[in-house]
Amino acid sequence: MISYPKKGDKEMFYDAKTETASSEQLENLQWQKMIGMLKKVYESNLFYRRKFNEHGVTPDDINDLGDIIKLPFTSKQDFQRDQDNNPVFGTNLTEAFENYVQFHQTTGTTGKPLRWLDTKESWAWRARCQAHALTAAGITNKDILLLPFNFGPYTAFWGIYEAAQHLDILTIPTGGWTTEQRIHCLIENKATLIAGTPTYMLRIAEAAQEIGVDLASSYVRALILAGEPGAMIPAVREKLEKAWGARVFEYPGLTETGTYAFMCSHNNQALHIIESEFIVEILDPQTGRGVPDGGVGELVLTNLGRTCSPAIRYRTGDLVKRVRKSCGCGRTLSQLDGGVLGRKDEMLIVRGVNIFPRAVGNIVEEFLEFGNEYQIIAYRRDGTDDLEVQVEINPSSDNMDQIIAAEIKSRLNLRIKIDSVPKGTFVRSHYKGKRFIDKRKQACNTD
Ligand SMILES: [Zn+2]
Repeated sequence: MISYPKKGDKEMFYDAKTETASSEQLENLQWQKMIGMLKKVYESNLFYRRKFNEHGVTPDDINDLGDIIKLPFTSKQDFQRDQDNNPVFGTNLTEAFENYVQFHQTTGTTGKPLRWLDTKESWAWRARCQAHALTAAGITNKDILLLPFNFGPYTAFWGIYEAAQHLDILTIPTGGWTTEQRIHCLIENKATLIAGTPTYMLRIAEAAQEIGVDLASSYVRALILAGEPGAMIPAVREKLEKAWGARVFEYPGLTETGTYAFMCSHNNQALHIIESEFIVEILDPQTGRGVPDGGVGELVLTNLGRTCSPAIRYRTGDLVKRVRKSCGCGRTLSQLDGGVLGRKDEMLIVRGVNIFPRAVGNIVEEFLEFGNEYQIIAYRRDGTDDLEVQVEINPSSDNMDQIIAAEIKSRLNLRIKIDSVPKGTFVRSHYKGKRFIDKRKQACNTD
């Protein structure tokens, strides 16, 4: 049974003071945290001291929040190069090595995997950021959270586990189990929450249908999604909400930065930025200049509570749109409208039209039958980009390929080849779906 907030319901905050602060109060807080972090980092973090020195800047040159623009950007390649040159953990370590207690690494989707170390304090900070997300979804210690994944070196779901522990929520680990065992476990133990990627949540729903279990009548009332976009793609959200009879919430995060935003229960089309812990800049990817609120630009993050291995002016490559407007939840934190809109390196120019594969995928999702998958393939032929979509279409769905092609033409003004393939063509993932294959880089890929 899906429950939406009603008038008079008391909103739950993890930290009401910062979540409802005025912009002046937030900026003061950010300034205090930022200058403290910069001083400590400059003193004992080799990676950033070298970077700042090369850029000719020290914390003494930073006199207010706006001075952040005097600091150099950091890219993933900077961290990768540092770890290559200074094996194995690199030099982005502010504290003595013996203080680090957590090891994680990135998936390597966009390059060589990065190793990341945390201290007890920074690990607790990460859990607190995540706790903002769980609390904003209306989750309390009366809930029971099922974790349908293995605990590996990727951070994506560790944060949920740690936040759940921090908030005294009962958690059920099901690592190493089959999907069917997990379904029986969540029914028998009356789990009220489940966390995972949208891809795997759909896979569980499909598997439940196959064994005759109606998840919509289970106790699960919320899905906590991470790892890939889903809750803000209308067709995916509808499929998940219908199959599970539960609300879906999403939070974005990066190994390098932590969880920086979350969805509240009043607006499923935007994410609140945790501005008490992050400074967010939205920049023109080409010029590096600031983009005004409401404009699309690259998300650049500075985290304020992970001094031991910080990310300062970190260029995420994700494109977002920041808006400042009131929200029914009462939070004053600014919002990323539509969440992460795409990646700057995925943009294509197809016959003169600028296009993100995700925009095509969102349309395909509307026509995709439950349990079916698709793939978008980008090519470069004779110096120009082109796209092709392969969609699993059931034999009974006459002309579906043409219907999808017509819809894409009408909405994006682009003629794209749609190939119909049989159900089961694409590998089913328990983690992230691989829906975009970029063959443009094959000749020059250095990953
Ligand atoms: Zn809100």
